[in-house]
Amino acid sequence: MQNNKPSSLPFISIVCPCYNEEEVIEHFLKSITPILTKSEKSYEIIFIDDGSKDNTLNVLLEAKQNHENIRVIKLSRNFGKEKALTAGIDLSLGETVVPIDVDLQDPPELILDFIKKYEEGYDVVLAKRVDRTTDTYAKKFSAEAFYKFHNKISDISIPNNVGDYRLMSRKVVEQIKKLPESQRFMKGIFAWVGFQTVTVEYKREARVAGETSFNGWKLWNFALDGITSFSTVPLRIWLYVGVILASLSFVYGSIIIIKTLIFGIDSPGYASLLTTVLFLGGVQLMGIGILGEYIGRIYTETKNRPIYIIENEY
Ligand code: UDP
Ligand code: MG
Repeated sequence: MQNNKPSSLPFISIVCPCYNEEEVIEHFLKSITPILTKSEKSYEIIFIDDGSKDNTLNVLLEAKQNHENIRVIKLSRNFGKEKALTAGIDLSLGETVVPIDVDLQDPPELILDFIKKYEEGYDVVLAKRVDRTTDTYAKKFSAEAFYKFHNKISDISIPNNVGDYRLMSRKVVEQIKKLPESQRFMKGIFAWVGFQTVTVEYKREARVAGETSFNGWKLWNFALDGITSFSTVPLRIWLYVGVILASLSFVYGSIIIIKTLIFGIDSPGYASLLTTVLFLGGVQLMGIGILGEYIGRIYTETKNRPIYIIENEY
């Protein structure tokens, strides 16, 4: 493996996961490098090629020829954004780290504000989207519902409309590196570590080119990941569902017995019997399903596999 880490540590590490982004990388560099130059800070840009199937790696290597501050890390396959981001954060050397999407939906100008806030003494600077008009209605609505639900049932609360785009000090990054879980819900992990935090606001732009790789099903699973990674409420709820149903059954059972003793045997009641059985069966299956979801997660974690595999670092 080649090793070309810079001789002195940079002030800022830009961490940029890329999956099938050949069209976007040039735009990205064109807009971010002037800003980094303007900041007058030393920097490195770490691109993580998350097993792209297009020409992304070659585009990145070509860009590296022209910019000395670029590092390119190739993962052995597509691990997903969260893991690619973890790889980049693990390998970053800067005093501060900024994860950013390559599609320019996170405006690079904000980095200057990030640096200002960092120098005022904050360890985490969050970028909050105040205007999501470029996102589809469905995405906005589902995101909002997710944050509300997640924050209600989790110990940590994820700020609404805040993505991965942020600045973190080295102190924060070192703590994040200690979290060993292989199912990585980064927004939750970032929130979990805490530290002195401040928010700056921005408007989310549309992608410059290429396509989003998050469709509805992927987002749904992402949401499930988020909830099950940071809350055990879905497990505990079955205790209460069980207690309530059992108490109701007890009351209903008593009524039937007393009625039978006083008035003798009633009509057979086939319909109510069947409904109760089916209803309880459904409730039990739901409970088992949720148990299964958590057991699946325990299973994945106990295998203790590495979070990602680096094929090469250029
Ligand atoms: N990405 C990645 N691996 C994946 C999917 C996405 O590294 O499996 C990267 C992608 O290249 C981009 C960022 O994650 O830099 C955000 O992806 P995208 O723009 O598709 O998501 P959206 O902005 O629609 O949430
Ligand atoms: Mg995007």
